[in-house]
Amino acid sequence: MIIKSAEFVISNSDYRKCPQDGKPEYAFIGRSNVGKSSLINMLTNRKGLAMTSSTPGKTMLINHFLINDEWYLVDLPGYGYARRGKEGRDKLRKIIEDYVLEREAMTNLFVLIDSRHEPQKIDLEFMEWLGENGVPFAIVFTKADKLGSGRLQLNIDAYKEKLLETWEELPPVFVTSSEKGQGREELLSYIEQINSA
Ligand code: GDP
Repeated sequence: MIIKSAEFVISNSDYRKCPQDGKPEYAFIGRSNVGKSSLINMLTNRKGLAMTSSTPGKTMLINHFLINDEWYLVDLPGYGYARRGKEGRDKLRKIIEDYVLEREAMTNLFVLIDSRHEPQKIDLEFMEWLGENGVPFAIVFTKADKLGSGRLQLNIDAYKEKLLETWEELPPVFVTSSEKGQGREELLSYIEQINSA
């Protein structure tokens, strides 16, 4: 897919206030610092499109970007902030859960996982919850350039094995590096393929 246009449309914390034109939405989510903003900027070829989670006030918002006038790329808040406190975490969970479960236009959720780390409970539980609720999702490993190819493969295999303890089948898996542009074509083709189906 060639990205002809990518523009920020709206930020808010309520899925009901998101755009109402029915265009398909592809949402990105992951723990803070997983590399979500970098990935969105890499995919769209726009350096400052997505703000990093260190940007004040950005962290609790659902951000819509219109791509090629055809589909929305949705930047969801990062989950799992230890610093947030219970009230903040509950509020955040509600924003995410409402969007994921209630948003009809949500076509596919990309769950970002830092390829350097061991499988984390919070990510596994989140994916479990997605499965239970029948939410279509794919896994995106980030920061692949930070590891040698042997180590990277070991980590990804370990992750897959962990998932197969509870899943019969794996969701689609992408391996990306925003630094190197790795995985860009694969991810965009995947979106294009769903859009044209
Ligand atoms: P977010 O909090 O999930 O939006 O994460 P950011 O995109 O802000 O990235 C967090 C940190 O990881 C930043 O210091 C990025 O420069 C770094 N980072 C993100 N993606 C990559 C990648 O593909 N390769 C490398 N080497 N660093 C990355």
